[in-house]
Amino acid sequence: MDAGAGKLFGPTLGSLIQNLKAAGYDPTQIDAVMISHMHGDHVGGLLDGENKPAFSNAVVYVSKGENDFWLSPVVAEMAPAEYRKYFKMARDLAAPFIALGKWKTFGDGAMPVPGVKAVLIPGHTPGHTAYEVSDGKESLLITGDMVHSPAVQFPRPDVAFEYDTDKKQAVSVRQALFKSAAERKVLVAGMHLPFPGIGRIRADGNNAYTWVPVEYSPMRESIGVAQY
Ligand SMILES: [Zn+2]
Repeated sequence: MDAGAGKLFGPTLGSLIQNLKAAGYDPTQIDAVMISHMHGDHVGGLLDGENKPAFSNAVVYVSKGENDFWLSPVVAEMAPAEYRKYFKMARDLAAPFIALGKWKTFGDGAMPVPGVKAVLIPGHTPGHTAYEVSDGKESLLITGDMVHSPAVQFPRPDVAFEYDTDKKQAVSVRQALFKSAAERKVLVAGMHLPFPGIGRIRADGNNAYTWVPVEYSPMRESIGVAQY
């Protein structure tokens, strides 16, 4: 799910490959990368430092709405001048995958990979996509940039973010998603939620919500603490 910022956001970020290896996986094992949306902090890591695919065996999946918005020279032309560089960045990142036939688009409700359903949540960007990963019993809803500031937007989901393409739509989609996630008590993950980034959404009434993270603590062995 997403590829992180890569080198686009400076030297303190872009450690995904390193961390993946530390977790025991090799980037060549990754065969599918699902993109929530084409902002730099989510797609910058698709390419390595030499502008080659960072995941050499992966197909990249992106919603048709997102693809058609960011990769269209016509849309880029109509965008305010200060935003045009983001369209160029998206085109440059996608180009190597398109050339290799490893860039695939899909529509709302599609299941690009078995067990992973795409749920369109437009507003932050036109083709912003959540993914629901399910084994038939339990589900995890990965919500991309539905929330940028948890401290503000859970109690006040009506607050938009400056980089939302359509703020009004982003707000109404967030309110609907919070409501359904709270009712379903589904596990939720989000790219800008605090570590561990997985939890549930609790409804507090009056359109206010609380983020309830899953309990997380390191394995005692891994921090060298004696077992009792
Ligand atoms: Zn974003």
